[in-house]
Amino acid sequence: MKIGVYPGSFDPFTIGHLDVLKNAAGLFDVVYVAVLNNSAKSPVFSVEEREEMIDRVIESEGLKNVRSGSFSGLLVDYTKQIGAQYIIRGLRAITDFEYEFQINAVNRHLNPDIRTVYFMANPEHSFLSSSSVREIGEMGGSIEGLVPLCNYHYLRERLARQK
Ligand code: ADP
Repeated sequence: MKIGVYPGSFDPFTIGHLDVLKNAAGLFDVVYVAVLNNSAKSPVFSVEEREEMIDRVIESEGLKNVRSGSFSGLLVDYTKQIGAQYIIRGLRAITDFEYEFQINAVNRHLNPDIRTVYFMANPEHSFLSSSSVREIGEMGGSIEGLVPLCNYHYLRERLARQK
């Protein structure tokens, strides 16, 4: 069985993330969306809030082979723990590539059996990041169409309260 893990901050989960996830769900038998639990990054949304948003996406998109989870510590350890052989990442621009290039080398060093696969961003989402969603939402701009519809109202109110 081919199992992939799609790790990230997902602070919050955007339609760019959803595009990568749908592509991965079509390719792997099971995909875990794994929220990175890293307090050093000072996330706006708690791990629980991020997992709940991902669960709503899984439910409303009918992604039957996708599960949510979270991890702290090394990604290769979590990947092994859940029995996954692949890490899934998305690439938007050259800046993503440089970062991913380095992370891939580190992960290959730590566990040579795990491979990372990359999906190119849909050109329509190549500008989209969680930080831009947070900034727009906190400043009262419209985040409609940038986040999955099932989380839109929740995020609009939650980010408006954030500023
Ligand atoms: P991280 O902090 O690990 O980079 P993110 O939540 O920012 O976590 O992103 C998780 C993954 O999704 C990364 O591989 C990132 O490049 C990818 N990603 C983020 N936004 C998009 C997008 N708009 N289109 C495609 N991939 C994306």
